[in-house]
Amino acid sequence: MAQRRYSTGKRKAKIRYKNVALLLAVLILIVALICGSCSAIKKSKDNKDDPDVGKTSDSNVTLPPPDDSDEPEINQPLDLTKQTSYRFDSVTRGQGDLGVGDLTLVNNNIKFLGKVNEDDLVVIREKKNGAYWVRDYSVLILPEAMDALNAMLLDFNTATGNGNVMVRSGYRTIEYQQQLYDDELAKTGAVSSALVAMPGYSEHHTGLVVDFTTYNGSTYKDFDGSGDYEWIMNNCHKYGFVNRYPKGKEKLTYIDNEPWHFRYVGTPHAKVMKDYDYCLEEYISFIKNYTIDTGFLLVEDDDGSKYIIYYTPLTDPESTSIYIPVKEDETMYDYEISGNNVDGFIVTVKLEQGTAQPEPSAPVDPTSPDENPDAANQPQDNQ
Ligand SMILES: [Zn+2]
Repeated sequence: MAQRRYSTGKRKAKIRYKNVALLLAVLILIVALICGSCSAIKKSKDNKDDPDVGKTSDSNVTLPPPDDSDEPEINQPLDLTKQTSYRFDSVTRGQGDLGVGDLTLVNNNIKFLGKVNEDDLVVIREKKNGAYWVRDYSVLILPEAMDALNAMLLDFNTATGNGNVMVRSGYRTIEYQQQLYDDELAKTGAVSSALVAMPGYSEHHTGLVVDFTTYNGSTYKDFDGSGDYEWIMNNCHKYGFVNRYPKGKEKLTYIDNEPWHFRYVGTPHAKVMKDYDYCLEEYISFIKNYTIDTGFLLVEDDDGSKYIIYYTPLTDPESTSIYIPVKEDETMYDYEISGNNVDGFIVTVKLEQGTAQPEPSAPVDPTSPDENPDAANQPQDNQ
């Protein structure tokens, strides 16, 4: 009995285990079915909420961020006004160079420290084109201003059809200015003159100045910058010239408005002076804000050329180091150093040549004007 009982007991237990296993299997199946069903429902629900599912277009697919660990770093554009964007070489200048260059500041209070090598001067009468007149063979100018003068007056002639411009004064020697000054004192009986610049203090000593008049005018004041001549007032900066004694700046220049007196300072300086409405006194002061330490003035010229401009004070009268950027290949950029005729140097570095084409000029009239002998008798201004 006991055995049977045991036996029965075992069987019962076996059956119970079988039932439990079956139950578990059923449960697992049910759970699996429920889960599958839930998953299907969820998927269906998701699809319903996502309007893009099932579309073939991938325009809204968000791609994972590209793995750019192997890509070279993209160079940020250099800040061309910062010293850190360049490597440098250096040149030296001394006190004797303060009066050399296109940006010398000369006025009634600042004597011209330089001395033009007269062999460098050109005779405008020999170099000019047919678009304008010149007083006679005595009118001289430095070559960089000569080229700019020819280009400016040719374009003026093309733009306006007006050829009635005459250059009546250019470079003056100290001796010539002395003569003008002495004549003025003899005439007035005074000990000094407010009308005639003292010898050494005339901007005409620089060889970078022209005075205009008209061919058929009666006084040197005929060129007043109005009418057709407004073109020259408005465009001269493109050629590197500035009207040196503009109206409203008399207290800074010490000279009354002279619409006929043009000074070559070169581009891009003339452009900056035009943009900021600065006379040369203001510009020379302004440019001192830009140094190798504080940052360069970046200027884009009308033809798209890019320059940096900066100031270096004269720190050693014998040998002041001036730092000039070098290109990647160690060669120098085109650069110019001009003394300011007072206390330092202005550096102009051409980083990039512009690509803008100049406007085409009409051919010059072959029957262009020639010298006007009568015009030689016109008086001059004496600044
Ligand atoms: Zn003048």
